[in-house]
Amino acid sequence: MTESRLKSLLDDRSSGAPASRIVRAMSERGALSAAQIARLTGLARSTVSTALSELRNSGIVVEVAGGEDSAKGVGRPATALTLNPEAGTCVGIHIALDEVRLIVADVSHSVISEQIMTLGRDYSPEQAAAITKDAITKAYAENGLPASGLLGVGVSVSGPVSPNGEVQRASIVPTWAGVNIKSVFGPVLERPIFADNESNCAALAEMMWGAAVGYEDFVLFKIDRGVGGAIVSGGRVVAGVAGGAGEFGHVSIQAGGELCRCGNRGCLEVYASFIRPLEQLSRIHGRAMTMDDAILLAEQGDVGARRLIEDTGEVAGRGLGLIGTVLNPPLIIIGGRMALAGDILLTPLVAAYEKHTLIKPRDVGEALRTRITIGKFTENDALLGAVGLVLRDQGRLA
Ligand SMILES: [Zn+2]
Repeated sequence: MTESRLKSLLDDRSSGAPASRIVRAMSERGALSAAQIARLTGLARSTVSTALSELRNSGIVVEVAGGEDSAKGVGRPATALTLNPEAGTCVGIHIALDEVRLIVADVSHSVISEQIMTLGRDYSPEQAAAITKDAITKAYAENGLPASGLLGVGVSVSGPVSPNGEVQRASIVPTWAGVNIKSVFGPVLERPIFADNESNCAALAEMMWGAAVGYEDFVLFKIDRGVGGAIVSGGRVVAGVAGGAGEFGHVSIQAGGELCRCGNRGCLEVYASFIRPLEQLSRIHGRAMTMDDAILLAEQGDVGARRLIEDTGEVAGRGLGLIGTVLNPPLIIIGGRMALAGDILLTPLVAAYEKHTLIKPRDVGEALRTRITIGKFTENDALLGAVGLVLRDQGRLA
């Protein structure tokens, strides 16, 4: 059976067998050419070739059209291979304030189905687990997928998650504080459970399919109703001992500043999230404004909306300057819904960043400058990244 063979190859982390290394590289990266596999795994071309023909014969690996091998020149098609989409699937879920989103994807990285389950604000974790199980059962039945092929469920949480799966107090979803993700979902779903903070998941999505493809080291900075972030080093998201790494929103930028929801004062999130600008804009326009409204208004030339976005960019850039001074990353990706404002946000943000960080663009050559860019996924990045947790075997809860 290809399903069980794939599972055992993916789980075989210790032996270093070529087939296992190839299968893991394909699970992490999606479609690859034989040459790319050799580069990524460090295996000899002949070893890759032998292992691949065995994997193809046993139905674990299949050929796909449209692959390209950059080593052979742009646009020249090469044979690309992926894991057989029929050999395994994974589920990603995102736990938000009043809804749970779910996505089903296969091991070739194709998204099969997506659902949003709306719940009340005070829904319990147990309700979320039950509704997730029902949604998975329904999605698998509708798409004719065997339940036995489900490799694992990745869970993205709007708050820090400790390595053992416990949601930390600073979470945006209060009913989940102190809850252990594995204890809630494990017994109900009966599959390996993976979990991480939503910004960490977003970084994973950008690294696997978005603006950070090809980067092993970068920072993600998210501006939305909150401010979050992630640090990726050597292709892994830095978790921190209790899961609190990359929480850029709670870097204190003003001593004795206003109280933050986390309990500290003067946090970057207080000044760089878009909640307050929205309140001001709503008051002036006499109706409730969303981030999309604000961006549209700014694009249409509304001076006030534009000013609020620019000011947000400036203070965010100042905070990011601290992060840049500490990490000096090659790439910074701006995520969250405010990133949809594009250059209106980015121009003042980059200027403030360059002003407040140590290494200035004029100090170094092009190749050594930090590139700051808008993320590819600003809406469902966390959800995609939850699938990425399973495919890349990150955040597995033992
Ligand atoms: Zn805070």
